[in-house]
Amino acid sequence: MSPTQKTTDDAKNSTDPSISSSLQHALSDVEEAVRTIGHVDLFCDYDGVLAPIAPRPQDARLDEKTLNLLRRLSDRDSLHLNIVSGRSLAEIRMRIGVPGITYAGNHGLEIDGPGIQQVQQIPSHMYDAMRTLAGTLQRSMQPYPGVIVEDKVLVVAVHYRLAEPEQIPMILKDFSTLVTDRNADHLLRVSSGKSVVEVQPNVDWDKGKAVRFLLEKRHGSDWHNQTLPVYLGDDETDEDAFRALMDYGITIRVGNPSAAKTAAHYVLQNTDEVAVFLDRLLRSFPGA
Ligand SMILES: [Mg+2]
Repeated sequence: MSPTQKTTDDAKNSTDPSISSSLQHALSDVEEAVRTIGHVDLFCDYDGVLAPIAPRPQDARLDEKTLNLLRRLSDRDSLHLNIVSGRSLAEIRMRIGVPGITYAGNHGLEIDGPGIQQVQQIPSHMYDAMRTLAGTLQRSMQPYPGVIVEDKVLVVAVHYRLAEPEQIPMILKDFSTLVTDRNADHLLRVSSGKSVVEVQPNVDWDKGKAVRFLLEKRHGSDWHNQTLPVYLGDDETDEDAFRALMDYGITIRVGNPSAAKTAAHYVLQNTDEVAVFLDRLLRSFPGA
């Protein structure tokens, strides 16, 4: 991009009231880095980042505009597109359905993309503990209307967004008691997100390690000189990735900034701002 174009774009940013100042700063940071480094590894969470959060997880959908952006981003030679989600690999792949990109499901426990397939090996005693707890959680949450227990095999999620608000403290207490009782040997661990609590095997792996694994696999140990990692997430599990990329890339937390204590470099308000960001990222490449 020529200096003239940069000035024009900057001027356009500064006069567009629909673009927040955090988005403006993230855009100028990423456009400058694309000019300098010339290659991007883009990592996007799904729920709350690409698709607005829906009352029921099965109703969270990509709009056509965002889907089209993902297709066009996946076509760029100098960009690797990765989706990193808490959903299972099969489900996240089915929901997005764009070929040629890398999908990391169950918070990175299972990864599938061009030239990269990896499933974290779960020790059998952890796996068995997980399966037993999955059945117990299904039964113990039945009395609570609106609670959805989602069995993703490697991870079990208890969604309580549709529960009666006055029952939520009891739901969380029951969940916590049940997991504590059955997890004396710490084979499992708990994480929490937006109206969801999850249990997974207590392996040393998270979204941050999954992202670093993908960067090293593609670019070698010198990846930080080869590519610019850009990560967009909206939840606690994404904070592991923000910390992993703190000194190397551009990290963005999506959602209410006052509610989020975050390690991310930037905060965007919602999925609409994400779409603007992705569109500008796409257009920052020469010839786009
Ligand atoms: Mg999310």
